[in-house]
Amino acid sequence: AAIAVQDAARMPGRLQIYQQGRDDAYRRRISLIRDLRHAADEGQFRLHYQPKIDIRTGQVVAAEALLRWQHPLYGMVSPAEFIPLAEHTGSTRSLTHWVLAEATRQLEIWAGRGFAIGLSVNISALDLQDADLVPYVGQLLKRHGVGAGQLTLEITESAVMTDPAHALVVLNALRACGVVLSVDDFGTGYSSLAHLKRLPVQELKIDQSFIRDLSETSDDAVIVRSTIDMSHSLSLSVVAEGVETLDSLHLLNVWGCDIAQGYVISRPLPPQVFEDWLIERQRGAATDDQGIAEA
Ligand code: C2E
Ligand code: MG
Ligand code: MG
Ligand code: MG
Repeated sequence: AAIAVQDAARMPGRLQIYQQGRDDAYRRRISLIRDLRHAADEGQFRLHYQPKIDIRTGQVVAAEALLRWQHPLYGMVSPAEFIPLAEHTGSTRSLTHWVLAEATRQLEIWAGRGFAIGLSVNISALDLQDADLVPYVGQLLKRHGVGAGQLTLEITESAVMTDPAHALVVLNALRACGVVLSVDDFGTGYSSLAHLKRLPVQELKIDQSFIRDLSETSDDAVIVRSTIDMSHSLSLSVVAEGVETLDSLHLLNVWGCDIAQGYVISRPLPPQVFEDWLIERQRGAATDDQGIAEA
């Protein structure tokens, strides 16, 4: 702050504002790290759900659970901001456990209401170091009567690459519990399909950066098409995330992509809104059978 005052004397205004902004960002970071520890106990977490559809039939096959934090001071804080903070401070464990418990609880509720959909949960690289992860997941599946194949765990390729030998042990144990494994944000790390071949994964999600401006002739189209083809040759189901336009959805359908997720279908929604959306969509599908054109 002393430097800021000096600089401000030479360059009035500008630097002071810059320094102020930096102090605020720093303070916010410190507060968020501190508050994260109690957020679950204080009931500040919620899960929102974003549908994943079978591109060919238009049917909703699953949803991804996305964590939301309602902070008492800052309001809604994005996971893109607080997940990295939790990772830096090594405190993803309690957060991940909360998400898993809530997601499996939700699956049981939906099963009871006749919604036959699966649920994906994101886990962090650090979670693979948590010795309790596998037993905890096993316990939750049993407690909530979640069947094999209903729960998917999404792991980024970089998380797996940190310690591939150990990751393999954990992933195999999760598979043995009946959990489906998905590689998230594919294409952004250093991994390749050759690496994937050695992992017990069933699904690959092409990162949204390749999907956003999709057109027939773009460089991204080449990457997306070859990723779809190679995934299929490895018997992996392919998900395109971040699908924002009907044109992209159409191209992905032509190229044989299996599943789509993105704003063109729906944003992530709170549980009740998601249920209403689902019922409304199923009612629409029963009467007009529009396949992918439904949005
Ligand atoms: P992700 O797992 O790759 O999730 C997809 C992100 O893209 C979500 O952002 C989703 O809201 C957003 N998205 C979906 N469709 C579209 C679209 O059409 N356009 C655009 N522009 N964005 C779209 P969100 O919810 O902010 O989450 C960001 C990231 O935070 C996630 O990326 C994931 O890495 C992490 N995350 C979220 N929830 C959890 C969680 O419960 N645990 C952990 N460990 N990480 C989480
Ligand atoms: Mg994900
Ligand atoms: Mg992703
Ligand atoms: Mg991401």
